[in-house]
Amino acid sequence: MLRTWLGALGALICIVTGAGSAEAQDKVGVVATFSILADFAKNIGGDVVEVASLVGPDSDAHAYSPSPADGKRLADAKLVLVNGLGFEGWIERLVKASGTKALVVTASRGIKPRQMTEEDEHDHGKTDPHAWQSVANAKIYVANVRDALVKVDPAGKPAYEANAAAYLAKLDQLENDVKATIAAIPTARRKIITTHDAFGYFGAAYRVQFIAPQGVSTETEVSARDVAKIIRQIRTQKIPAVFMENVTDPRLMKRIAEEGGAKIGGKLYSDALSGPDGPAATYLDMMRSNLKEFQSALTN
Ligand code: ZN
Repeated sequence: MLRTWLGALGALICIVTGAGSAEAQDKVGVVATFSILADFAKNIGGDVVEVASLVGPDSDAHAYSPSPADGKRLADAKLVLVNGLGFEGWIERLVKASGTKALVVTASRGIKPRQMTEEDEHDHGKTDPHAWQSVANAKIYVANVRDALVKVDPAGKPAYEANAAAYLAKLDQLENDVKATIAAIPTARRKIITTHDAFGYFGAAYRVQFIAPQGVSTETEVSARDVAKIIRQIRTQKIPAVFMENVTDPRLMKRIAEEGGAKIGGKLYSDALSGPDGPAATYLDMMRSNLKEFQSALTN
């Protein structure tokens, strides 16, 4: 009888505190603004952190509208990781509105930003936020995430350092593979069309030319003139393929490919991972999946 009563009390306490178990409560609460950053945090935090992503898989962070539940997540977190470089235009207001006491860290800190010039009609004077598309930059993100976790949970330092070292070794391997794969594609064929200008850091790091009708934000309006210009470029520069992105509408690209006479390449993961069953459920898988798409479209 007493046991039943204690069991019921235990269940009641769980309901009241909203905790599934004592373990979940002990975990370090981390909120990342988008899925790629959340993946870095999971790899470095391991079992002792509970990571949530505000913008989910296959979703567009540029155009995101936060919900009241997002504010609650921030309020409950110990650490908030943001990309910065103007990627999440909505985050500052959300942090303020949430009243969170969490440490807010810009994970791209220390990266050399890609500044847009007069040639980039839509984006003159803007900063390109997609720094994670270069593996060298991803290593800087990882170091920043590691240091941020150590700050909010000093006791976990040895584990965070060990996890980060193991993950950085995987990034080294990935970087070698990206360089070797791109180097095997003739320079003249290294031209890729995407919907929005999300691969500038990849292009600069590995010498691939990316062309996009939209600028560095998916919120840029595309004019008929932009579309006509790209179609001309496809024809005159013999650009082999036009790619879809997981966070943008595919219709525009299908039209451009058709009118320019280019083939449609596979789906690229630009600003978000895929769901858990997709080909890009982690950063490492995302980079390898994009690389495979580039390779098959540009070498065949
Ligand atoms: Zn983007």
